Amino acid sequence: MNAVVVNAGSGLPLAFARLLIDWQRQHGRRGLPWQHTRDPYRVWLSEVMLQQTQVSTVLSYFPRFLDKFPTVQALAEASADEVMALWAGLGYYSRARNLHRCAQAVVAQHGGVFPSNAAGLQALPGIGASTAAAIAAFCHGERVSIVDGNVRRVLSRLLAFDGDLAQTARQRELWDLAQALLPEAPSPDDMTAYTQGLMDLGATLCVRSRPQCERCPVQGICRALETSTVSNYPVKTRAVKRRHESWWLLLLRESGHAGRERIWLARRPAPGIWAGLYCPPVFGSEAALLDALPPTWREGLHELEAVSHSLTHRELRLHPRLLVLDGPLMVPAAMEGDWVDIVALHGHGLPAPVRVLLAPWLGRAQT
Ligand code: SF4
Repeated sequence: MNAVVVNAGSGLPLAFARLLIDWQRQHGRRGLPWQHTRDPYRVWLSEVMLQQTQVSTVLSYFPRFLDKFPTVQALAEASADEVMALWAGLGYYSRARNLHRCAQAVVAQHGGVFPSNAAGLQALPGIGASTAAAIAAFCHGERVSIVDGNVRRVLSRLLAFDGDLAQTARQRELWDLAQALLPEAPSPDDMTAYTQGLMDLGATLCVRSRPQCERCPVQGICRALETSTVSNYPVKTRAVKRRHESWWLLLLRESGHAGRERIWLARRPAPGIWAGLYCPPVFGSEAALLDALPPTWREGLHELEAVSHSLTHRELRLHPRLLVLDGPLMVPAAMEGDWVDIVALHGHGLPAPVRVLLAPWLGRAQT
């Protein structure tokens, strides 16, 4: 690995910070609802939502979440079900569980006030180094660098950093370099523009494939561009291996009982996929699903189109089977779960592909 040196004498930190701050002020993203605030609750909420989720999606979830939970106290006092129901569709549900735990810790340990520096923030559940840095920089002007996946890509290209970022030690090195690139004695406004600039550059120009170097504010000092090696960075050897798994889902609907329609849903166990969310009963094979049903129910079973769903480490293939029966029904004791009125479906946290499968009923629940 080539050693990358970033020091004040090289002039690189000064030039980088100045170029980035000026560019952000002229061309960076503005007007997002979580910008122009120094409220740690809002910044934290947006940062957690934006991890692994696109801005366009977060734009609809963020105001809804704030409407329901306007303060960290309100979020801490909510039930886990309320939080999961509002998070449903954003994916990566451990974020919602950590969000709730973190709000409770802020209230219980800090009287409802977030710690005012990155070190204190990082001690809270679910707040990693980069999120802590973002909150501290945006809300308190702390001179600390964010280094999420986008920023790693920008900095590894800027510096032609060829350390393998699959290794924690190399990530640490890049973090140190990120710290060395920070503006000297920045005002809080400069720290905000710099931090936002790093995010914006990684999200809009220095993107994974086909970066727009010709529009980039730091093209004149980018070492990868200078040596025509942009596509070599970032270096990361370990690919995520996805396991393929098939699930058979029983969509059991009871109609006509006391004029109500109900669906049988079970809460997913923790830890595991979709922990805490509601889902139709899951079986590892079609035979297992059939075995779980009373013989007289089996002939009413309809095969629906299979759906694929990608998770970080798993590729799920969902095979839904629909069974509509007149009630009242006695569900076999071995099948865990509960009846949920179709009109109450919206109040339940449902994983995104289950929402798709139940879309016709969710539509009716809204009318
Ligand atoms: Fe990224 Fe290109 Fe800018 Fe270098 S010049 S930081 S590779 S967009």
